[in-house]
Amino acid sequence: AYNFSAGPATLPEPVLQQAREELLEWHGAGASIVELSHRGPEFMQVAAEAESDLRKLLSVPDDYAVLFLQGGATTQQALFALNFAKAGQPVDYVVTGHWGKTAVKQAEPWGKANVAADAEPGGFHDIPARSQWRLSPDAAYVHYTANETIHGVEFRDIPDVGAVPLVADFSSSIASEPLDISKFGVIYAGAQKNLGPVGLTVLIVRAELLARTGQPRPPILDYRAHAEHESMLNTPPTFNWYLAGLVFKWMLAEGGVDAFAKLNATKAAMLYEVIDGSGGFYRNEVAKPVRSRMNVPFFLHDPALDADFLVEAKAAGLISLKGHRALGGMRASIYNAMPVEGVRALATFMRDFQKRRG
Ligand code: PLP
Repeated sequence: AYNFSAGPATLPEPVLQQAREELLEWHGAGASIVELSHRGPEFMQVAAEAESDLRKLLSVPDDYAVLFLQGGATTQQALFALNFAKAGQPVDYVVTGHWGKTAVKQAEPWGKANVAADAEPGGFHDIPARSQWRLSPDAAYVHYTANETIHGVEFRDIPDVGAVPLVADFSSSIASEPLDISKFGVIYAGAQKNLGPVGLTVLIVRAELLARTGQPRPPILDYRAHAEHESMLNTPPTFNWYLAGLVFKWMLAEGGVDAFAKLNATKAAMLYEVIDGSGGFYRNEVAKPVRSRMNVPFFLHDPALDADFLVEAKAAGLISLKGHRALGGMRASIYNAMPVEGVRALATFMRDFQKRRG
């Protein structure tokens, strides 16, 4: 089956095969990689390779730390103001969907969160023009969500916010196309969409931000401490780190982010073409220039058809298409590991379904 889940999402078949083969015993070590100490030579090697492969894949500049953390993207959202803002210093948020709202909520106990722009009054169908953002002159950072996984809204350019560091949630679009990381203070991502298994969160942070005093916090909530201990301040999620490392190697072998950018553009265009060409049978409400390449939400013209659509799609080997409960309708998540054939199969199914039920 082709799995269109938004996350945890489909993983590359060769990665799952390799993990299955390696799981019982790690290359003569006498134990599985999930049973070995994170400080032993076997896992240290796995961890170092994963970091260097990710640096290569994303062209991470040398003055950025790469952290492999737990707690998901949501926990990072709770830590930014603590780590990067002084008490009472404003932190700016551009809200273009559900996850931007979550980020504001997580920041509020520690930061003076200022919603600089909010797309909710327009139903999260577009990104407010940069000229309308009400940024604070003394903000510690500006946060935005590069790709809104539920609402299907994606920034196609990096916004210019002057000297204030950009903190960006790339949970659902990291490694999907080339990115100039030097334009950011922080990019972060829960791994469970483009990078591998849930349970690992990647944070790429400029050294200058790590040097900030922030607010009093225990070491486990301190990014500088994590960086100083190479993400091993406590026991890291070793299996997830290992599996993500396999995904990084797979992405590099497939041609890296340039190759995925082309495939992702092709895949997204296939679905939007079916939707836009359906004469209203299918509908996507997002403004065309900011439609997501990763998550394609769509509605059938008659919600009474939703249940049949899902049952018949499943019978055709197309699973996890039900939309997020906040929106209803359908959503096809088409991350790097979704092959073009999977998207073609969905496009064909959608055309057939319309012919039969339209
Ligand atoms: N940000 C975005 C863009 C997401 O898609 C998600 C989860 O789907 C999150 C944040 C929350 O991530 P987590 O569940 O890892 O905390």
